[in-house]
Amino acid sequence: MRMFVLEKLASAACGTGVAAWLALLGACAPLGWFSPSPASGATAHTDSADVELAGFTGSESAEPEAEANAASTADDDARASEGDAQVAAGAAVEAASEAPPTGDLRIDRGPSAVPLLIPRGEELLFEVEIDLGALGDPTVGRVTLSSGADAYVEGLPSTRGAAKKSGLEVGWIKSRAQGRHLSYELDHELYVRHLPQVMPRILMNDTQRGSENRRRKLKVGLQDGVPTAVHEHDGHCKDCTNPEHFVESRWMWGKPYHCEKCKQMEHRVWKPSLSRTVPDGTLDMLSAVYLARSMITTGQASTTFPLIDKQKLWNVALERGRRKIVRVPAGRFDCVEVQLKTSRPPSEPNDEEGFQGLFGIQGTIQIWFEATTGVPVLISGTLPVPILGDLDVRVQLKKATGTPSAFKPAE
Ligand SMILES: [Zn+2]
Ligand SMILES: [Zn+2]
Repeated sequence: MRMFVLEKLASAACGTGVAAWLALLGACAPLGWFSPSPASGATAHTDSADVELAGFTGSESAEPEAEANAASTADDDARASEGDAQVAAGAAVEAASEAPPTGDLRIDRGPSAVPLLIPRGEELLFEVEIDLGALGDPTVGRVTLSSGADAYVEGLPSTRGAAKKSGLEVGWIKSRAQGRHLSYELDHELYVRHLPQVMPRILMNDTQRGSENRRRKLKVGLQDGVPTAVHEHDGHCKDCTNPEHFVESRWMWGKPYHCEKCKQMEHRVWKPSLSRTVPDGTLDMLSAVYLARSMITTGQASTTFPLIDKQKLWNVALERGRRKIVRVPAGRFDCVEVQLKTSRPPSEPNDEEGFQGLFGIQGTIQIWFEATTGVPVLISGTLPVPILGDLDVRVQLKKATGTPSAFKPAE
């Protein structure tokens, strides 16, 4: 019965984050860790231009800082290059020092705004728990947050290997949520790159693989001088002539017909992109978490900024709160809380739909950052579920590598 209800809810929930986690909860038993085999999503969406570039950036990655980025894969390079290449002819290039970069990559956001600080070569592993009250406290999956900086490749190389090195860097942040239970498999990646150029300045790839397959792409930057967000998503193909999209009729005399809807990645195609203007300084959801973190190390107590999710604009207020010792699998840490509160700007249509943040968390998100380094230790909030009510979700640090040396458990 419970399983039935949860499955119903999972398919009814509109946010994929919630749907995915609930589907994982469907049979509701402790989950084994998803084995880290990269197999389930190795096929990348690339075209020939991407592939060319991937080879090119591959040769560039002999740079020490690029090698330090252990999380980088061929897939990333292909997508990264796509973003870097789409611009860049007119991008402003500043002279850069030759000293190898250390510390966080700093992205300034204006004179009075909190800068975005992106740690180099850091990887944080979290486990995700959803509180089911009397039904138990199962661990439903894991989340990996990683970040780093790559050398920025300016424009398209005219001949292979002869591209100009600008000395600028691209900051990147990646979140990967993985889980598996019985036949349901989730592998959801958000990958955002901050590029030192006009468009896109922010490039976010959102890819869900596993039992459900879905891709989204967000670009934020200046288009004809106007701050603009471009959103693309894929969907099931309709009525093409590709024989691979055809399925056999179940009726014995029927002809094969174009699949109407399925969950196969191969049947999905990119839909036309949607553009809208956004306020200056608009960020994506994943960068919002790192901006909250930046507040810890730069010392601000609060800030607000616009956030774009798909085509929707939100106001986010970040507020520094309580300080306490937080216990997670990685240890006990002296932490400062930052709350992310979202509201709709008055200028936006009010559709009564609540904010659905990182990992499907709705409404206010609490993040506990280690007090001196800003390393996130615990992310918590609620997953709204009809009938069952709001379930508490806790994303808690289990293991950290590449963190600042001052990041230590509390005495
Ligand atoms: Zn088709
Ligand atoms: Zn299909």
